[in-house]
Amino acid sequence: MPEGIIVKAYGGFFYVWENGQQRECVLRGRLRREKQPVLVGDRVSFTLRPENAGVIEQVLPRRTALVRPPVANVERAVITGAGRDPAPNPLLIDRFLIQAAAAGVLPLLCFNKMDLGPGEAAEQIAGYRLAGYTVLCTSAVTGDGIGELQAQLQTGISVLAGPSGVGKSSLLNALNPGWSLKTGAISRKLGRGKHTTRHVELLPLPGGGLVADTPGFSSLYLPELTREELAGFYPEIAWRQAACRFTGCLHVSEPGCAVKEAVAAGEIAPWRYENYQILLQEVLIQERRY
Ligand code: GDP
Ligand code: ZN
Repeated sequence: MPEGIIVKAYGGFFYVWENGQQRECVLRGRLRREKQPVLVGDRVSFTLRPENAGVIEQVLPRRTALVRPPVANVERAVITGAGRDPAPNPLLIDRFLIQAAAAGVLPLLCFNKMDLGPGEAAEQIAGYRLAGYTVLCTSAVTGDGIGELQAQLQTGISVLAGPSGVGKSSLLNALNPGWSLKTGAISRKLGRGKHTTRHVELLPLPGGGLVADTPGFSSLYLPELTREELAGFYPEIAWRQAACRFTGCLHVSEPGCAVKEAVAAGEIAPWRYENYQILLQEVLIQERRY
């Protein structure tokens, strides 16, 4: 039985992407009665019907499910920032990174608008690389770095995330100039329009891979985390903390802290460490509430 990925759900129809084409499918009756809804991103097996149609027979096991946008099996999130317009906000970027990691999604960083110069982003690019993240630099205007971005996205399902105005919808269009017909629709979906009902759609990239047309996560909230989990989501802290003198070290004021030593030695960006401390306070307040 052929298998494919649901790329769009609309009006009772599920559009299944398989082997370079999209089929309009309906759900087999017994699937319609199941409580768990079928999501965009789900892998399904289906039987063929004439004229590019089909019937979904089975939903294959789901690896992850994002809430925003509601997409299953997202493999990576491109957390996007800019050097200027808007000025970089590394605390916001860290929040997106943590939300991605907590959702089981591999984060990747992209600094866009490099045609305006790296600006204040230069320091962040260096710090995130020091932490071990893959950092791409792009310009949706000149096309610089778009090939590298495309190469990173050529398998599985990706979402773009990041503050508004950094160029997420422009990057989507740059990834496939063939979508320019749909540009209006894409930017309307990605841009404002917060109060209109939106249907997330996965767009096939020319080099392979699928990307959601709706940005991911929310800038405001940390997921519910323990202090240990928070440290675990800072890769440069996570692997060093076994060397701290005290187990359960919070890396704030304890003596013999391997993390503080690494900050002093310039091996961890000081602003990353500050962000960790700010978010740690949030997590500690959150913990007290339960
Ligand atoms: P989004 O809110 O993240 O989806 O951002 P948009 O794609 O809507 O872009 C916000 C503004 O930045 C628009 O005016 C774009 O034309 C502009 N923009 C996007 N990418 C670039 C870029 O790489 N360089 C420059 N100079 N401007 C860009
Ligand atoms: Zn420590």
